[in-house]
Amino acid sequence: MTPPRHWLSKSRIQSGRQCHKRLWLEIHQRDALQWSGAAQARLDEGTRFGDLARDLLGGGHLIAADHLHADEALAQTNALLGDARTDNPRLFEPAFAHNGVRVRVDAFECDPAGDALIEIKSTTSVKEEHLWDCAIQTWVARGAGRRVARIQLGHVDSSFVYRLPGDYTGLLSLVDITRHVDALQPKIRGIVDTLKRVVQDTQPAIARGEHCTTPYGCPFQSHCSAGEPPGPEYPVTLLPRAGKFAGRLADAGYTDLRDVPDAALLSPTHQRVAEVTRTGKTYVSPELPALLADIPYPRAYLDFESIAFVVPRWLGTRPFQQLPFQFSCHMELQPGVFAHQEFLDVSGNSCLQAFVEALIPAVDGAASIIVYNQAFEATRLRELAEMFPQHADALNAIVARMVDLLPLYRKHYYHRDQRGSWSIKSVLPTVASELDYAQLDVAGGEDAQMAYLRAIDPATDALERERLREGLLAYCHRDTWAMVRLAHAFDD
Ligand code: SF4
Repeated sequence: MTPPRHWLSKSRIQSGRQCHKRLWLEIHQRDALQWSGAAQARLDEGTRFGDLARDLLGGGHLIAADHLHADEALAQTNALLGDARTDNPRLFEPAFAHNGVRVRVDAFECDPAGDALIEIKSTTSVKEEHLWDCAIQTWVARGAGRRVARIQLGHVDSSFVYRLPGDYTGLLSLVDITRHVDALQPKIRGIVDTLKRVVQDTQPAIARGEHCTTPYGCPFQSHCSAGEPPGPEYPVTLLPRAGKFAGRLADAGYTDLRDVPDAALLSPTHQRVAEVTRTGKTYVSPELPALLADIPYPRAYLDFESIAFVVPRWLGTRPFQQLPFQFSCHMELQPGVFAHQEFLDVSGNSCLQAFVEALIPAVDGAASIIVYNQAFEATRLRELAEMFPQHADALNAIVARMVDLLPLYRKHYYHRDQRGSWSIKSVLPTVASELDYAQLDVAGGEDAQMAYLRAIDPATDALERERLREGLLAYCHRDTWAMVRLAHAFDD
């Protein structure tokens, strides 16, 4: 039989289920694909978990041929499956092909009574998309002649705590999903046939919409948006948390926020955003200047940066736990009199205790601890209080003195350049245009996480590590100085 010109795979089928155009572009215009650094880092963390999961499953034969050598992978798989002397019946990354679809399976256990297929995901629960992943693989493996009787999903057990160096027993949680996957089997053939036609046809004409971010962010968004006619300067999608409501406005014929009458907007926040956008007149409530001026002195303006590892690296921590590795603190002893302290550890080793021991004296004496989005810093401090009970009183006292600028600004201020967002990066340029984050090497939270991961990578040379360290220090410093500017934005 002539092999197909374009093989489908599990990931291509999933792309095609999300959007026919995405699948078409993946095959015919792959150079338009753009993964963000953060997306790549998530893939790397997933790979790390996948590698560890092989050990946790008890080891087996890894099919060595990589994804660029599909025929070799198939040959190696067939050789091992056909080898009656194989003493360990568990294969990792075996390859199967059926009806124009090729898949690599994370783990496959051969059993005369019925094989088991195991998919590993670096998430904390089973998601619907995982069932489809497994359904595609099962359909192909069965089509290739295997009697798959059991399907399991291995995910991260979020209750796991890393207690002993190198001991990850309990990190992998296996869930039997056979029943759910079997229920999807009758649908796979039709999906495969449709997607085969898509890849052979011309590029589908599909406009961007919710499907570009659900269930996964599409890496062709820049490509697709560049090909679309420019929309209004202030689209209705700017409305905060509008979601489906923005779709309903579009259905009613409104694409430009400035055209939407107040009566069509349900929440006071939406009405304010629309009015400011229409008039260009910034909203400042009469109460805001006094509310800001009344925040007691001495003030500590505080911001953290954190990292979350899927596979915990620091003892005493959990998977996905946000671990602070940096803080910046501008202390305003009296109006206009500042001192600055900061902490950053790029050794890659656990720095939590050192972080706590640097933070407590840094904010000592502050009557108010000013943050932007209190939930983040307060949660980190409560977690640290549990981990270091000897410092719990001091850490909880920091939380008790927190003043959050975010709800103050959300309730009392809006400038149309915020474009529906009250993130500090959206608000700051409207009160201090010279402090644009775009000038910085590290310009956002995800950038900071990427910079930290590169800085702790042993393969990074000393010069680059120092450059990253300086970028991180400048970014966190900017965050706390931004809070200073916001707190003083309406001084007399
Ligand atoms: S950006 Fe949206 S429309 Fe374009 S390929 Fe991706 S999912 Fe499809």
